[in-house]
Amino acid sequence: MLKKYDHIMWDWNGTLLNDVDLCVSIINNILLRINLSPLSKEMYKNIFTFPVKDYYEKAGIDFTKYSFEVLGQEWIREYEQRRLETKLFPKSIDALDFLKQNEIDQSILSAYSHENLIDIVRHFQVEQYFKHLAGLDHIYATSKINLGRDLAKKLRIDHERIILIGDTVHDFEVAKEIGVDCLLIASGHQSKERLQQCNAPVVDSLDDIYSFLFN
Ligand SMILES: [Mg+2]
Repeated sequence: MLKKYDHIMWDWNGTLLNDVDLCVSIINNILLRINLSPLSKEMYKNIFTFPVKDYYEKAGIDFTKYSFEVLGQEWIREYEQRRLETKLFPKSIDALDFLKQNEIDQSILSAYSHENLIDIVRHFQVEQYFKHLAGLDHIYATSKINLGRDLAKKLRIDHERIILIGDTVHDFEVAKEIGVDCLLIASGHQSKERLQQCNAPVVDSLDDIYSFLFN
């Protein structure tokens, strides 16, 4: 078994951490409060996107009436209060462990704020698996392209030996922008149909990643 990559950039939310139900619940609390219809999980996976402001609009929020900054803060406040309701995906630890044993380095590249990312990674006691933890310096979940570029530079390895594993079209865009391979998993925040529109392999769960990482 030969490894195809020396480094894996993991997305966190929706890829290693299963926070999809919590995110659906939080957006629905906001929508109900401002008299809009709640989303089913399926609808959520069909409209969730980065920057998250665009998905708020798709959910029906009118930014001439409501401030994105205020709603974004409300969202993150509830997320921080309830984040321990989330769990790692059942196979996350197995995957991290297996890759570590095979001497593939790992990092997290997340649109979550850096401080909160460190806290939650420590909470789940998985910090030791990662060489770098890279999160944004604010709470508004915008783009991680610049963050990804900086991380790739820091790794000082051939980009062909790096793969980004994520659960959204944005993960694919980031990988393309920084010139690394991408593998998408459809068990997170976006539907399989949307991920399949990217020029990257899409699998159903963490169980299916290994054939893409080894020859
Ligand atoms: Mg994600």
